[in-house]
Amino acid sequence: MSAVAAETADSETGAIAARTLADSFKSRDLFQRLAAIRERVHGRIVFTTSFGLEDQAIAHAIFSQALEIELVTLDTGRLFPETHEVWAETERRYDSRIVAFTPAHDSLEALIARQGIDGLRSSLAARLDCCAVRKLAPLDRALASAAAWITGIRAEQSTDRALLSPVSFDGRRRLIKANPLFDWTRERTLEFVRAHNVPYNRLHDHGFLSIGCAPCTRAVVPGEPERSGRWWWEQSDKKECGLHTALA
Ligand code: SF4
Repeated sequence: MSAVAAETADSETGAIAARTLADSFKSRDLFQRLAAIRERVHGRIVFTTSFGLEDQAIAHAIFSQALEIELVTLDTGRLFPETHEVWAETERRYDSRIVAFTPAHDSLEALIARQGIDGLRSSLAARLDCCAVRKLAPLDRALASAAAWITGIRAEQSTDRALLSPVSFDGRRRLIKANPLFDWTRERTLEFVRAHNVPYNRLHDHGFLSIGCAPCTRAVVPGEPERSGRWWWEQSDKKECGLHTALA
């Protein structure tokens, strides 16, 4: 497979490179998939972590191979204390720094003035407004000069996520988007984390399968869909914050 510099690729070239990289995933483990992304993509590669089970598995595979991939998190200002704990524990374990992107202070002050500190529950528009300020704008800054973006998305997390691809070309951002755990089950991810003694968010031990901001995440009971604890007061088909869409 030829290497790709996504920032200079047109959509057709980017899509071909994405398909080729996705094909190469089929016979490779997580370590090899991440090494393949680093080998094939020229330029800055960003992995966005929220310190969930999947993200911790990927972080381990990056750190243990010393791959030149930046680990970035979106510190929204509303994360659980347990999330900050596993963040710190991960930095200690791998003797590495994870870069925080935070909301712009003027945008955050204006958001709180508009809707109050917990106005996000008042309507879907208010919740999306909060996500736009606390997550999407920092994500745009994190990915501004990136050639590739790595995420912990798995297909079985939701019907919406199953519509995505293991690797795609994001024409709007002009980068390769790679989801190296796309075909993994939650059980396989858990086994990986246990086998490699990877630090994980203690909330996972208390029924939290998918962990985001504290006001927008609750534990689920056995049998509930993985992401049903996210924005649980909304319709079941609105379980995304805008970071990941079928077009990206
Ligand atoms: S998940 Fe909730 S608290 Fe976090 S940015 Fe979105 S609406 Fe705001």
